[in-house]
Amino acid sequence: MTSYKELGLVNTKELFKKAVSGGYAIPAYNFNNMEQMQSIIQACVETKSPVILQVSSGARKYANQNILKNMARGAVEYAHELGYDIPIVLHLDHGDSFELCKDCIETGFSSVMIDGSHLSYDENVALTKKVCELAHSQKDYVTVEGELGVLAGVEDDVSSEHSHYTQPSEVVDFVGKTKVDSLAISIGTSHGRAKFKPEQCTRDANGILIPPPLRFDILEEIEKQIPGFPIVLHGSSSVPIEYVHMIEKYGGKLTDSVGIPEEQLRKAAKSAVCKINIDSDGRLAMTALIRKILVEKPDEFDPRKILGPARDELKKLYSHKNQNVLGSAGRA
Ligand SMILES: [Zn+2]
Repeated sequence: MTSYKELGLVNTKELFKKAVSGGYAIPAYNFNNMEQMQSIIQACVETKSPVILQVSSGARKYANQNILKNMARGAVEYAHELGYDIPIVLHLDHGDSFELCKDCIETGFSSVMIDGSHLSYDENVALTKKVCELAHSQKDYVTVEGELGVLAGVEDDVSSEHSHYTQPSEVVDFVGKTKVDSLAISIGTSHGRAKFKPEQCTRDANGILIPPPLRFDILEEIEKQIPGFPIVLHGSSSVPIEYVHMIEKYGGKLTDSVGIPEEQLRKAAKSAVCKINIDSDGRLAMTALIRKILVEKPDEFDPRKILGPARDELKKLYSHKNQNVLGSAGRA
């Protein structure tokens, strides 16, 4: 049993309180390897932003739970070495069972998501409540994120053909019964790099897909029901067209890529939305740079010369998000 405090981590409680009142969102960046972790910490230390290091169950299988735990400890020490101690959360993304959440709580996670959104409402309440009881009764309080409504798209082990918007009429009951610390909602964001089908979009003069806008009316209604309660947006990558073009220029193929425009996320971050999940954009940046180098330098075979520039690009991307999209820069 490892408590997150032994690793130097924090839970989301204070961070979300400040983010909701300050009108910004904390970045939740997924990671499963060293280069991703380094770039996240470099960017967040430089921009003085708090950060949520997020791990899916797929990432946990890929990287090994003990390695991830020690990478989180390493992230804390790395930030310190870089000269500024930022608050760092280690969060389970899309926990799909009580057992997985329990396992993570016992191996040093400071926050877990229990995703019962695919269950019936009553089953979702029961499962989420059970995880909250365990997480909140720890010596060091572990925070829990629940979800109401279903996002479309594919993310590691999570996939759904259709989205169901969160019903504002359910949120008071759900939050009251489960005692969750934050709530992920569905207002039109989506997992993956092709967030909408072309027929759901319009096209601009260059043929680039323009997605349908987020349902800010539903968000407002939810905020009225649970004023000041921390709201989470999943599937919030913007899928920068420059990266898509770079990947395709160097031999990749990412047909019909489309994300959530940054100005909509900026608007959401100013509301009670206090955690915004970004994974696909990091994947795209990394893949774009790796492809570019492999094509431009065919004699290169040192992984450091391939992954190093990808890491630099990732850092640039995360700094940009903190400063220009989420508003979390300068808040640590
Ligand atoms: Zn998600």
